[in-house]
Amino acid sequence: MNPQLLFWVPAVLRMSLMLLGALVLWFMFGPVVGLGAGVLGACLMIIVQLHYLYRLSRWLDNPDSEKLPDGWGAWTDIFSRLYRLRRDDEKNRTELVEWLARFRQAMSLLPDGVVIMDDVLFLEWCNPAAERHLGLKNSRDKGMRVTNLIRSPDFMDYIILGRYEHPLTLTLRERKLFVQIIPFENRRQILVTHDVTESERIEMMRRDFIANASHELRTPLTVINGFLEIASSQANLDPPTRAAHLKLMTEQGHRMQNLVEDMLTLTRLESIDYPLRPERVAIGSLLDQILEEAKALSAGRHTITVEADGPDVRGSTDELRSAFGNLVSNAVRYTPDGGSITLSWRMGKNGPQFAVRDTGIGIQAEHIHRLTERFYRVDKSRSRETQGTGLGLAIVKHVLLRHDAVLSIESKPEQGSTFIVTFPMSAVAPDAAALSGDTLATA
Ligand code: ADP
Repeated sequence: MNPQLLFWVPAVLRMSLMLLGALVLWFMFGPVVGLGAGVLGACLMIIVQLHYLYRLSRWLDNPDSEKLPDGWGAWTDIFSRLYRLRRDDEKNRTELVEWLARFRQAMSLLPDGVVIMDDVLFLEWCNPAAERHLGLKNSRDKGMRVTNLIRSPDFMDYIILGRYEHPLTLTLRERKLFVQIIPFENRRQILVTHDVTESERIEMMRRDFIANASHELRTPLTVINGFLEIASSQANLDPPTRAAHLKLMTEQGHRMQNLVEDMLTLTRLESIDYPLRPERVAIGSLLDQILEEAKALSAGRHTITVEADGPDVRGSTDELRSAFGNLVSNAVRYTPDGGSITLSWRMGKNGPQFAVRDTGIGIQAEHIHRLTERFYRVDKSRSRETQGTGLGLAIVKHVLLRHDAVLSIESKPEQGSTFIVTFPMSAVAPDAAALSGDTLATA
């Protein structure tokens, strides 16, 4: 039935009943009694209405703590409707609070900074990424002017010019940020920050790498082209000079080939499409091969020894051959004639270790942390003289990363260096683990 009818019908019925009662009393006891009863009834109804109005007003004053009164007559319907409204309101409020919590959590997980400000740049809220990027603190800085918090002349200019359609590049707290203000609603603005420090660093590395690689390739090419020009302009070069030129050209050709091969190796090692396929690496035969290569490179100029009593590991034989081979070839190339080089493979306390110790030229401490950077060389001319590409230790670093192994370097200038590769215990090949356990137990 129509709710309006539900409301009016009982009310009209009640009033009709009261009127009827008053008329009956009028006819039975005369007009005074009839009128008196009518007035009394009307007064009673007014008192009841006033009572419920008072309860309603008290409830409206404090709807959260006051219990909603039970009503009488039409009030029952009013109160039950109010009760329903309040219940819906509470449900909406709970949903809103939950939604807000979810929104805040999502915002706090965003890698980009978000600052909400009013139209005159007073901070209303910011997420943790904005706190990190801009040095703000939501709880502390709320209500403060953002221009007083981000003290940067570039940011001030950006605000003054108001050209918000383009982002501003800002260097702040040793980070490079893209900052943009986006007006929203009528009187609010969002400031968004995006940290580009890492991508800039990668971009710079890429530029450096291309510049270095081009430079490295240009040098041998210039030499080869020079000799080719001489050969074509001077047809009757004497045989010894021609032979010397050919020898130099061949050397430069090899140098370019080594460089391209190292660059391809590095690219492959960094590629996600080239996952490590671990196999059992027979360290004994691997070290034999590396020793042979080292002896060939040294051509009898050094004393090279191997001490191996560690277990086999799981990994890529080719990659470890390349990494260990690079360390050993460096030891040969940077150790003057007559020096000694020791290769060792042992079970260390944190895992198997491969160490290359030489009595060579050594490295000054300030260079050590940069040696694995591409094309980083302590002495460029010495590296080139010995056919170095400047990529050997970068390859070592990437191979070790793929094997969860770490490289440590100890060195003293003029005394020699030790390059140590430590594998995790988990790299030990399963049956070799039992074997080395026996060996250790009986040692
Ligand atoms: P390169 O091809 O120039 O040898 P690497 O990446 O293999 O490039 O090594 C980087 C630099 O580290 C070398 O140029 C050299 O200065 C230094 N270095 C590497 N190994 C040794 C070593 N055993 N003794 C002295 N210096 C070394």
